[in-house]
Amino acid sequence: MKKIKNYIGGKLVEPVSSKYMDNIEPATGEVYSLIPDSDEKDVQLAVDAAEKARHEWATMPIEKRSALLMKVADLIDENLEMLAKAESIDNGKPISLSREVDIPRASANFRFYAAAIVNQSTQAHITADKGVNYTLREPVGIAGCISPWNLPLYLFTWKIAPALASGNCVVAKPSEITPMSAFLLSELCIKAGLPAGVLNIVHGLGPKVGEAIISHPNIPAISFTGGTATGKRIASIAAPMFKKLSLELGGKNPNIIFDDCDFEDALATTLRSSFSNQGQICLCGSRIYVQKGIYDKFLDAFVAKVKAMKVGDPLDSTTKTGAVVSAQHQEKILHYISLAQLEGGKIVAGGNAFNPKGRCRNGYFVQPTVITGLDESCRINQEEIFGPVVTVQPFETEEEVIALANSTNYGLSATIWTQNLTRAHRVGAALKSGIIWINCWLVRDLRTPFGGMKQSGVGREGGDDALNFFTEAKNICIKV
Ligand code: NAD
Repeated sequence: MKKIKNYIGGKLVEPVSSKYMDNIEPATGEVYSLIPDSDEKDVQLAVDAAEKARHEWATMPIEKRSALLMKVADLIDENLEMLAKAESIDNGKPISLSREVDIPRASANFRFYAAAIVNQSTQAHITADKGVNYTLREPVGIAGCISPWNLPLYLFTWKIAPALASGNCVVAKPSEITPMSAFLLSELCIKAGLPAGVLNIVHGLGPKVGEAIISHPNIPAISFTGGTATGKRIASIAAPMFKKLSLELGGKNPNIIFDDCDFEDALATTLRSSFSNQGQICLCGSRIYVQKGIYDKFLDAFVAKVKAMKVGDPLDSTTKTGAVVSAQHQEKILHYISLAQLEGGKIVAGGNAFNPKGRCRNGYFVQPTVITGLDESCRINQEEIFGPVVTVQPFETEEEVIALANSTNYGLSATIWTQNLTRAHRVGAALKSGIIWINCWLVRDLRTPFGGMKQSGVGREGGDDALNFFTEAKNICIKV
């Protein structure tokens, strides 16, 4: 059975304890590889390796650093099929999604930041007759990057690439639920000739490896993506140590559909924004609000399309909905569906676990599920389920839907469907969400800031925001 290894000091190594955990393929429920059950000793080795490497990496000519990161991007592209298959097995996501979205985005992350650093400029401010102030940005040293299981390589590289590009060494931990693509990335980094100790990947559990990274005194910046409860725990450790902290957390995103929308476009995109990756994207719209004039028409058409969705083997190229990530997560989703019924909700599509025939008969699948009849106070409309479950509710006025949309503790993203651009702008400005999509969903320009409001996160990633996060700014003033 394949044994995943840690990547420390440029080498693939066993965990110090020699302990391993099972890695389960969610589509079959079977153990298919082993993952290091690392601890603080492995994190210490990673920090030691990063300490050794950091001076050379930070002072390397920028073109050379950029070329090495470009080489990693090239190798990801060259190995797209292998990575896509590995990620689909590890996560249960349809291989078409890994091929078309996750893996291309992982190489794009490296390419984007490799290009960004050679095109960066710095500002100077002239204070007349007195001085010239300029900003000197220096890497923080060693960055800690921790990522979740839903978009494994995509989010792992979204952190690692800007941290490395801006001259830091990195100690990173992918989710223990989906470690395989990060392991394969470490093999590609060795092939690319990334100097030893620049990137270190320690596999294992959050409370053991994750907390060892968060609390390590030599790691001054932490970039974390995951659940809000975990973010709270991380902040409680990192804040008293005055670490730089970027938290990208959960969401409960509204999808607002006005009467005057382009109906077919709104319908087709809502299907994607509800159920892509089995609803396990932090940006999926899980609360659908439809204006009264088209509510019945929309609901009928939407439910018909949801019922026609094929759930099946993630490795089949025609599958659009695969397995949810684990047995535990399947249980959580099914629990919320039962709760919705107790709260008075009506299941109008799906609502059950599902078992495809053949290879996947013991896998963890949930039917795409649509629930109506629940108001915003219900737990189903307040808590993040992170699965293929959406609620649909009617609304009458703009004011009413703004209040509904803003009624949760989350504020990650929102989608608005209308042909009235003045209204789109007005509603967009009134929503407390970090990203607002108007007549589209999941369109991202890597140069723009990304992050949530309220309990969806602190700080912004993407573009210059990420490069700035992983550096310290110094203001230098020269008398003239
Ligand atoms: P999670 O919080 O359980 O785990 C995320 C990572 O943190 C994993 O690597 C885990 O091992 C680690 N971890 C867990 N406990 C830790 C601790 N005490 N200290 C340090 N690290 C710890 O989240 P998950 O279940 O893997 O991912 C799903 C969540 O991620 C959802 O809430 C989703 O909305 C969120 N998410 C947010 C974004 C965003 O950009 N805002 C993107 C993707 C996912």
